[in-house]
Amino acid sequence: MQITAGEIRQALNRGEFRFFYQPKASFLTGQVSGAEALIRWQRDEKTIVAPDAFIPIAHAHGLVPEITQSMFPRLVEDFQRIRNVNEETTVALNITAQDLDTPRLLALVHAAVACGSISSRQLEIEITETGPISGSDITSGSLQELIREGVQLSMDDYGTGYSSLDSLNRFPFGAIKMDQSFVLRMLSSPKSTTLVKASVAMAQMLGLKTVIEGIETEGVYNTLLHCGCHEGQGYWISPPLAPDDYLDFLLADHRWPASPVGMLRMAQLSHNWQKTLLVDTVFAYIKSARSSELNLKGLHTSHAECSLGRWHCGLGRSFAGDPDYEALDIPHRAMHDICEEIFSVVNSQFSFAQLQRMLDDLTDHSNQVTASLQRLEARLLMEELSMGRGH
Ligand code: C2E
Ligand code: MG
Ligand code: MG
Repeated sequence: MQITAGEIRQALNRGEFRFFYQPKASFLTGQVSGAEALIRWQRDEKTIVAPDAFIPIAHAHGLVPEITQSMFPRLVEDFQRIRNVNEETTVALNITAQDLDTPRLLALVHAAVACGSISSRQLEIEITETGPISGSDITSGSLQELIREGVQLSMDDYGTGYSSLDSLNRFPFGAIKMDQSFVLRMLSSPKSTTLVKASVAMAQMLGLKTVIEGIETEGVYNTLLHCGCHEGQGYWISPPLAPDDYLDFLLADHRWPASPVGMLRMAQLSHNWQKTLLVDTVFAYIKSARSSELNLKGLHTSHAECSLGRWHCGLGRSFAGDPDYEALDIPHRAMHDICEEIFSVVNSQFSFAQLQRMLDDLTDHSNQVTASLQRLEARLLMEELSMGRGH
């Protein structure tokens, strides 16, 4: 029987909504990294209603903001208990575009962060595209405000909404959550596998994290292990759990296969991509007869700040002492130095031969970096194979 808006209002007044928590696993550590809060309607002791049965109706009647606002304190309360068991895990709340048009949710988030009930670093907000996200000033302001608070915004069900790419372009998302329909088809469709992996690569090039949901089998998990995706979620890892069961789950300290190869591959990909973009920008500048500014915003940074540099000084440090890890530092620094030279040369008189020499130099150093990364990758894959973790 169709649920009515009146029944939803009544359930709200009676406090019949609860959150279940679905754990997410980190592909890098193999441990629980956080959980997504998924609403349930506890109609009576035996009946639990899934959100697909009432959220669309609530949405049609403009009731979603009321639900979100009344549930946020519940999330914060649950989080206090979760934090006592695992200090580091995150929690993700689902909201819709309607929520962004009401300032009350922002006020609640702000108050919870300000009083330390939840750290903004541990709060993620998934925006479900039940409709296009309006570009209104209020919506954009709300998104910016959340980012300023330090909250991570994820685009949920990425790949299905007709405006996914447009929304990615317009709003400050920090992560995408691939729609499960692609993942569920992976076993039977190589094209879906490619789509998922290509989306992870695209997200990396845009500086976004990726979460993949709908992982129902070990095979799919292992297929995704090395693709550079950050986190996985799905029935194979765990179904959504009642709060007490989630706490038990955290205490049980589950482990899944983990690998540093994905992040290493992403560092490689960004490195090559960034070099290509830089060369493109320099050539466009020269072709335009230097009529516009040479705009290197986001492209050229110091060697420690580019994506490869961040990996080298961050996650990559776990390989300190490895000859290939150590060997990439010098050619990588040299690449940045050559770029500086190229930028200064194109702003003065230069010969084509001079530019060609510099580009050749850049390529030689880039190849050395790539060779080191690829050797390191091959060795890691072999190690995993010999430990029986490969596939
Ligand atoms: P979602 O945010 O994309 O959540 C993922 C849904 O996929 C959840 O369904 C989850 O139980 C299900 N799922 C998880 N792993 C697997 C898997 O391996 N295979 C398959 N086939 N399904 C899996 P659920 O809890 O029924 O939620 C459905 C949708 O309802 C959510 O999709 C979200 O759009 C919405 N929703 C849930 N909670 C809230 C909420 O608090 N507020 C709002 N506004 N929407 C919510
Ligand atoms: Mg979600
Ligand atoms: Mg989703």
